[in-house]
This record gives sequence, C-alpha cells and structure tokens, in this order.
Amino acid sequence: MGDSEAAATTEGAATAPSSSQPSGLDLIGLTKVFPGGTVAVDDVNLHVDHGEYVVLLGPSGCGKTTTLRMIGGHEFPSSGDIVLDGESLVDLEPDKRPTTTVFQHFALFPHRSVLDNVEFGLKMHGVGKGERRQEAMKALEMVGLESLADRKPRALSGGQQQRVALARVLVTKPKALLLDEPLGDLDRLLQLRMRVELRALQRQLGLMFIHVTHNQEEALSMADRIVVMNDARIQQVADPLTIATRPRNELVARFMGDNNLIRGKVVERTDTRVVVESDAGVRASAPTDEAGSPAVGERADLAVRAAAVRVSDAGGGEAATNSADCNVTFVEFLGDLVKLHLDVGGERMLAKVAGDQYPALRGREGDTVRVTWEEEDVQLLRQ
Ligand code: ATP
Repeated sequence: MGDSEAAATTEGAATAPSSSQPSGLDLIGLTKVFPGGTVAVDDVNLHVDHGEYVVLLGPSGCGKTTTLRMIGGHEFPSSGDIVLDGESLVDLEPDKRPTTTVFQHFALFPHRSVLDNVEFGLKMHGVGKGERRQEAMKALEMVGLESLADRKPRALSGGQQQRVALARVLVTKPKALLLDEPLGDLDRLLQLRMRVELRALQRQLGLMFIHVTHNQEEALSMADRIVVMNDARIQQVADPLTIATRPRNELVARFMGDNNLIRGKVVERTDTRVVVESDAGVRASAPTDEAGSPAVGERADLAVRAAAVRVSDAGGGEAATNSADCNVTFVEFLGDLVKLHLDVGGERMLAKVAGDQYPALRGREGDTVRVTWEEEDVQLLRQ
C-alpha cells in the first residue's frame, strides 16, 4: 500500500480529553538522524493546541517533512517523544494513531466513485455498509460535494478532487490532520482559492491542522502560528504578523524575503535603543529592551522590511540615521506594488511602494533617491 492509501486509512476515533488531562500535541526533544548521519530534525520542541492551524515553513531540506512524518508515524524518531493528549504516539503504527496525513499526491482510486473513495478508510476498519455510507455522505457535505457523490474522480476539477481527498481523511475523525504540501500540485489560481477553502474548513471543523510548506505567502495567509525551520531546527515560532514584521534572526529575515539587512557595528547604545552602522555607512536604529543586546563596538545585524521603506528625491544634506541615499538599479513593476532595487555603497537594498507610484518611478534606473524608515520598523536580529 502506498503512502497515500495508507494515509486514507489512518484514523482512530477522536475522543474529547477531559479537562484534567494534558491537551494538544507536544513534540519533545524530537530528533531524527538518518543512517549515514544526516541530522534531519534536531531537538524540536513544540506545543500545538486542538483547533490550531500550524504551518511548518522552511527551505527544502530543513526537516519539516520529516517532522510531519514522525508525527504521522511514517518515520521513527531517533530520540524524543510525540505526545497527544497525554499519550505517547511513538510506538504506535500510523493506522493506530489519532492522526491522518494528507500527502501532496493524494491518489484517489480512479475506478471508484467519490462516495466509495470516501468510504474506503472506514471499510478497512470493518465499519458496516450503512454506517459507512452515512458517515461518508456527512464528510462529503462538510466539503460541499454531496451532489457529486456518484461521479468518478476524473470527472472532477483539481480542486474538487482535493476536497474528496480531504473528505476521505475527515471521515475517519482524526484528532489532527497532517498536510504535506497540500496545495503544491495545483495551479496558482486554484492554490489561492484552496487556501481560503482549506482555512475555512479548518475553522468550521475546529480541528488541529499541521501543514508543511516552503511557500511563505501560503504560510502567512493560512496559519494561526508559523514554525520557521532551517537546518533541522526551529528558528522562530510566532503568529504570521510577527514572523513577517519581527524576524528573530537573519535566517528567518532572509527566508521570509523582502527584508533589508543592515549588518555592522553598534555605534550607540541606550537602555531602549541601539544604533548600528554598516560597512557602507548606513546608520539605523532599533528599539531594544534586551539586557543581552550588543554593546558599543560589537557586531549587530538589523532588519527592516522593504514595505516599511519610503522613497523620496535625494538632496538636503547627508542622510541621517534611518535614511540612506541609494542608486536605483532596477524598477520592478508588480501590479499592486513596485519593487525598487537599490544600491548603497555596494550593499543592496529594496523598497516596496504602492503600484500607483510606478509612473513617477518608471525609467529612474541610475538616479539617486533617498530612502527613509522608522525606528519602530527596525528589528534587532539575534546572532
Ligand atoms: P522538502 O521541502 O524538499 O521536502 P524538507 O524540509 O521537508 O524538504 P526533509 O524531507 O524533512 O526536508 O529532509 C531533511 C533532511 O533529511 C534532508 O537533508 C534530506 O536529504 C534528509 N532525508 C530525508 N529523508 C531521508 C532518508 N530517508 N534518508 C536519508 N536522508 C533523508
């Protein structure tokens, strides 16, 4: 049986935990070292509540799929524990876990009707025909496909096929749905629609969803919380707004994209702010209340989002702190917004401004502009 079929048969009835029991999923020191020595997942600790939509986000090879596969039972941890509502899952086979995995290639059985496809998981567990039909129809109603129950999968659109795949796993009433790049195969327009549909369905069901993707926008648009992974480790766990505007370290700032990095030395430091000067002479200040933040003379890196950078004509004396005079290297029009690619003393900067400014910016390559930003939009990155 392939992974997708196995996925369709994994279940275990959900039982509501009593209030005195630990509730939700805990990954505790979860580690996976593959034969040959690749450390795919390194000491991952995470708590996920019931009803929460969590996205594991990171570049290819960062360990997100291996983490999901360990939760689903498709990979055995080298060390650590996976605990759901107080019960360790690590010694349970995938089909004995109260989790269900939706793989990217959710192969439906082409020769069976939509209803038969959805019933399949229950049939494998000896559920009688009458109950099976009833439960499968309920699951199809949840995804809005009850009127297509008799169709074969090939007579459905890509989005409808995906909803059948979801109904097929929902019918088993898992406590947690594990989704491995669930939108990866779909064309962009369908992806955008399915983001909304999947998120709405999750809210309606109130079920724990753990979703793996390398797509930043998908994670920002769908998650209650994003877990950014890199090099087998968690780099930051936070809500989408925090991940987008307050990256914790350089890895997160770079991976989320469109962050300007100002890397240099601390030239001023008070209890509430730190001023950093880059090698190219750009000075930026960031708020800080951290006792441990760097002292004058020490290295420090700051991040400021491209969207927080304003652009005006150059001139009027030397650029002050939180501003710089830059050479425009490329004006990139993207419809709703314009990305201005800039160079300041050999360092690259990026400004994102509203698309209606394009007529004024078009053809400005080679010009010098002044960029400015607010201290409150600058983030001191952890080393
Ligand atoms: P992608 O987005 O490309 O799927 P990922 O972030 O999900 O990447 P994983 O698939 O979890 O990453 O892989 C993490 C690391 O473990 C990678 O270096 C990968 O090559 C390695 N790896 C994964 N599966 C195995 C395996 N079965 N045997 C050996 N190494 C593996």
